[in-house]
Amino acid sequence: MVLAQLGGSISRALAQMSNATVVDEKVIAECLNEISRALLQSDVQFKMVRDMQSNIKRIVDLESLAAGANKRRIIQQAVFSELCNMLDPGKPSFTPKKAKPSVVMFVGLQGSGKTTTCTKYAYYHQQKGFKPSLVCADTFRAGAFDQLKQNATKARIPFYGSYMESDPVKIAVEGVERFREEKSDLIIVDTSGRHKQEAALFEEMRQVAEATKPDLVIFVMDGSIGQAAFDQAHAFKQSASVGAVIITKMDGHAKGGGALSAVAATKSPVIFIGTGEHIDEFEVFDVKPFVSRLLGMGDLSGLMNKIQDVMPAEQQPELLQKLAEGTFTLRILYEQFQNLLKMGPIGQVFSMFPGFSSELMPKGSDKESQAKIKRYMTIMDSMTDAELDSTNPKLMSESRIIRIARGSGRLVRDVMDMLEEYKKLAKMWSKMKLKIPKNGDMSAMT
Ligand code: GDP
Repeated sequence: MVLAQLGGSISRALAQMSNATVVDEKVIAECLNEISRALLQSDVQFKMVRDMQSNIKRIVDLESLAAGANKRRIIQQAVFSELCNMLDPGKPSFTPKKAKPSVVMFVGLQGSGKTTTCTKYAYYHQQKGFKPSLVCADTFRAGAFDQLKQNATKARIPFYGSYMESDPVKIAVEGVERFREEKSDLIIVDTSGRHKQEAALFEEMRQVAEATKPDLVIFVMDGSIGQAAFDQAHAFKQSASVGAVIITKMDGHAKGGGALSAVAATKSPVIFIGTGEHIDEFEVFDVKPFVSRLLGMGDLSGLMNKIQDVMPAEQQPELLQKLAEGTFTLRILYEQFQNLLKMGPIGQVFSMFPGFSSELMPKGSDKESQAKIKRYMTIMDSMTDAELDSTNPKLMSESRIIRIARGSGRLVRDVMDMLEEYKKLAKMWSKMKLKIPKNGDMSAMT
């Protein structure tokens, strides 16, 4: 995902600044220019980048900072919070509640992934215990109804549409009425997309909205459309009361900057991102963990939730206890690798690992990442218990490293690389020990 490149560029800019002996105006200006360049390359709108730059400069007013203040930290924090501000419109979106049936209408251009996303959204809520239903009010695209029908059938979600009727408003109203009677608590209406933003599309959208009175209008945008994102999102916002955004195709060549632009244009939060064609390739979007991952700062709460999902319950308290103490041994790493392999998209999980910045993250496909983890595990298989459980970095003497390399059939350099990465991780964890709640409640963490 190209977003990782943006994260990498920003982390590098911050790291370069950290390496400078003195942090003065020039160093800060260079760092901010570097970050701005990275954002522009990721298709963030020019005006937003300029505003961000001046906001950070205002926050980091060198003269007014106390002499002893940690300027690097303040700048890093400023970059973090500016990116969060850009992605957070300040008001949460409507969220469906099981107790109160709601209607959610989807809008977007043709090809944006709207129909696919309707089903993903329905499926996501079905897994959470909702009784969702799908209405196909897209009478413009031949095959739209068939597509929705096919997706809905696969996921066992009730659907409504018509091959004969050409009035989308009529279908939408009939569908919503039918599902209200059937006690569906989340009625999802898919509307027509067009090739470009044309007046007729917007008029149709207005009429469907007026007739079905949706509780939420979701604008679906292709994450790879680049600088056009702001104008497109703005045009939709003008015609429909867009309350939330879903960005699709974030798995492909999406540079991600479009997400920032869409938030700015619609003043609505991104609530999910699509990360593949499959129905469950769909992620809840949370601003802070996202930015944290982008900057290579990890996403502890996301990681812990994932680990808790796949880890046997009896092992969890022990792990949390060790992490809370700041102890991060090779054995913990080994066990976490085992869990990682069960968790699905490795790259995504890796980016939640504090310390696994984009430089450390295995590049390339998931297959390569898995191969790398397996290689590390083979190396660790040749270690003794004492080595795996040690908290003493000096234990790994040259003779031990040579023995491990021989035992695992790898080069000495491979073992050293692995240990180097482990050390970085362990350092990261030891710094974080105070932040991990001892009761194991990770939900409050970001
Ligand atoms: P619509 O015209 O807006 O309803 O778009 P569709 O739902 O028909 O999607 C257009 C194409 O994009 C289809 O081939 C989908 O499988 C694909 N698509 C949708 N969402 C995603 C996504 O998150 N990732 C990827 N890779 N493809 C997607």
